[in-house]
Amino acid sequence: MHSTEKIYDLAIVGAGIAGMVCAVRASQLGLSVLVLEKSKADKYMCNTRLTSGVFHCALQSPSKASQVLSEKIQTDTDGFADQDLGSTIAKHSLESIRWLQSLGVRFIKGSQHYYEYILSPPTLFHQNQNWMNKGGDLLLTNLEKQLTAFSGQLLRDRQVMHIERSSKDEFHLTCKTSQDLQILVRANNVVLADGGFQSNTDLLAQGISRHPEKVFQRNARASMGDGMQMALQLGACVNTYEGFYGHLLSRDAFTNEHLWPNPWLDAIASAGLLLNEHGERFANEGLGGIFLANQVAKLDNPLGAYALADETIWHERGNLNMQGPNPKLIDAGATVYQSDRLEDLAQRAGMDATRLVNTVSEYNTQLQNKALGTLQPERTEDKSPAYPIVTSPFYLFPVCAGVTYTMGGILTNANAQVLQADHSPMSGLFAVGACTGGLEGGRKTGYVGGLIKSTVMGLQAAQFISEQRHAP
Ligand SMILES: Cc1cc2nc3c(=O)[nH]c(=O)nc-3n(C[C@H](O)[C@H](O)[C@H](O)COP(=O)(O)OP(=O)(O)OC[C@H]3O[C@@H](n4cnc5c(N)ncnc54)[C@H](O)[C@@H]3O)c2cc1C
Repeated sequence: MHSTEKIYDLAIVGAGIAGMVCAVRASQLGLSVLVLEKSKADKYMCNTRLTSGVFHCALQSPSKASQVLSEKIQTDTDGFADQDLGSTIAKHSLESIRWLQSLGVRFIKGSQHYYEYILSPPTLFHQNQNWMNKGGDLLLTNLEKQLTAFSGQLLRDRQVMHIERSSKDEFHLTCKTSQDLQILVRANNVVLADGGFQSNTDLLAQGISRHPEKVFQRNARASMGDGMQMALQLGACVNTYEGFYGHLLSRDAFTNEHLWPNPWLDAIASAGLLLNEHGERFANEGLGGIFLANQVAKLDNPLGAYALADETIWHERGNLNMQGPNPKLIDAGATVYQSDRLEDLAQRAGMDATRLVNTVSEYNTQLQNKALGTLQPERTEDKSPAYPIVTSPFYLFPVCAGVTYTMGGILTNANAQVLQADHSPMSGLFAVGACTGGLEGGRKTGYVGGLIKSTVMGLQAAQFISEQRHAP
């Protein structure tokens, strides 16, 4: 095995936004930094490169007061988010964007209230290779340039396979190259930033879906949970059952490249109905598309779900935001059943027509009676008003769950230090970005924001490591 002579202050596993922000900031602060990225490609595929680029904090603009953001994190996660993590993200959201701007990263403002900081040029609606030279792609190019300017280094084709603590102050990281060479890297501190475990079907099967192959990979397919598994070997505490950030997509996304990562059917299902293959409701549509995507993944048949809308929903909610399906879904050739009669829709989808008609009728009645809470499962209006399904034509969309990143993962404190089983911090080991848990998830699958948590916590880790390094 080839071994590096140098002992780095900091080795970082993964070169997405979380790892690269941490790397650039740590180099700025005078630390010697090496980033290890498993992909060999110049434009290595990762979620950061595919991102839509909206920097928000629990779907609020980061410019809002930190107290407001902090409370919104707690409300959206139904109190699940660790208080310290939540308030740290809230407090440093805007500052982290200002730091990116100081490096020349450009943002634009969009139409929604929380679209105040979108990476420029925007990638809000894109498929296939359209990420190239857009926000996430340019961000990574910029961060790598900055890293080099501050004498840090990013090495591609280095998959970190194993980490061991060789002494109190030193870690040994074993990397594998595409030529099957093994390289040993030595560092005083390690930051795990490998992006989550969404593309590891064995790990997804442990709580997210019994049929992970029927959950669509709405992501770069680069994150297999290596960081989490290495952290576990070192004695870390993890939570893996907190669901995922993702959306409802057309089921045709499995075979039609034009149907992912957008458009989503979230707004349709959460204003109308989400049904299983028998024509029955199975989830509270009012909790929104991210929650619903998680419920679809949990079905016995995750490829048997449908979103039902009427003409009013399709027109009023279908193009509510840039990722909406009207008319993009149709233009991209997705399957849509459309008819003036619900019975026809049921027949075309192979559903029991009587059950579908009964489901819709019961829902319409309870909506009219203002008694949605009596439905089984109950229906709330947290994320969307409930619309009656009355105006023809009616639309039935075969949907699937698209997983973007897992919300569970390595537990850390607000300095990004990895926690041990007794929740005390482990010295020298850190985790940032989508491989971490403890912030997002809970009963309502609360989403805080992949970009903001990666940026804030990347900066936090760098700052803390630098202070430790320079402490007398
Ligand atoms: C289509 C899409 C749209 C999105 N839109 C938004 C949005 O608008 N707003 C928002 O907040 N979030 C959004 N997100 C989520 C956000 O982009 C991610 O949460 C964020 O980019 C994650 O950054 P990361 O650095 O943690 O992981 P990644 O960017 O996924 O980087 C992880 C890196 O680690 C590498 N790696 C993995 N294992 C190893 C190993 N063993 N050794 C070395 N390297 C390894 C991978 O190859 C990868 O390059 C979106 C994501 C997608 C896919």
